Amino acid sequence: MNNIMTIDLEDWYQDVDFKNWKNYEDRILQNTNKLLSLLDEANVQATFFVLGYNAERFPELIENICDKNHEVAMHGYDHTPLFMQTPQKLENDIRKTLKILKHITNDEIIGYRAPWFSVVKETFWAIDILKKYFEYDSSIYPTRTPLYGIPKAPRFPFRFSLSDPTKMGAKGLLEFPPATYEIPIFKRKIPVAGGFYLRLFPCSFSKYFIEIINENQQPAVCYLHPWEIDPQQPKIRSYKWWHYYNLNKTEKTFKRVLDNFTFVSIKDYLASEHIENIECINDLW
Ligand SMILES: [Zn+2]
Repeated sequence: MNNIMTIDLEDWYQDVDFKNWKNYEDRILQNTNKLLSLLDEANVQATFFVLGYNAERFPELIENICDKNHEVAMHGYDHTPLFMQTPQKLENDIRKTLKILKHITNDEIIGYRAPWFSVVKETFWAIDILKKYFEYDSSIYPTRTPLYGIPKAPRFPFRFSLSDPTKMGAKGLLEFPPATYEIPIFKRKIPVAGGFYLRLFPCSFSKYFIEIINENQQPAVCYLHPWEIDPQQPKIRSYKWWHYYNLNKTEKTFKRVLDNFTFVSIKDYLASEHIENIECINDLW
C-alpha cells in the first residue's frame, strides 16, 4: 500500500515571523540535508512543496532534491496565506514562483500546496486559478481548526468539480487531503500524521492512524517541515508554543513511520495508481 510523503520546504523563522526574514539565522540547508539523508536511508522519494523565496536563495538545495528523484512542487513565493491575497496577487505569486522553480528543475511543476492549508470556504475562488496551473492540489484539510479546514471535504484523494465544467475541465482539480482520523460514533475528523500532529501523538498512535487509513485501501498523506527535526533552533519566547512542541522527538517518530510503511511522492503516486477511479464531487459544504 503506497502512502504519500510530503515536505513543506520552509525554514524555522518562516513559520514564526511573516515579514522580517532577513533578521534570522538560516538553518534550512543543514535541516533539509538531514531530512534528505533520512529519506535516503528509508529509500523514500517525497514531494517537496517549495517556497520560491527559498529556491531563489538556495538553488543548489533544490537541484540536490531533484537529483535524488524527489518531486519539486510549489508552496507559493513567500508563504502568504490565500486569505491575505487577491485573485490577481495569487496569479502573480504562482507565475513568479513557477518561473523560479522551472528554471532550476528544468521540469514541469504539477502540484501546489497553499501556505497554512489556506484553501477554505472564504478563499475558494483560488480553485479556478489553481486548476489553470496545476494537475493537483494538497491544501484542503478535511477538518476544523482555528486556522484552516473544510470539515465536510472527503478524507481521501478526490476531484472537485464546480458546477460549470467548462471552467474546471471535465475532470476537475485533483485534491490530496492531509491525513485525518475519523473518531467513531462522533464522526469528527482530527488531523494526524503530519507536522504538529506527528509531534503531538505518541509514535504508536501515528502508526495506528496510518494503518486504519490503509485498511480503507487509501493512502495517508503525511507532511513534515525541515525545522521540525531541529530541536537546537533559536527560541522566540513570544512565539506560539506548538511550533516548539516535542521537536526533540520528531526525528525518531519520523524514522519509525518511514520504516513501517511504504511512501512515494504524489507524482509517483499519480503514475502508479488508478486515478481514473478517484471520486469526483461537486459540493464540499
Ligand atoms: Zn507552509
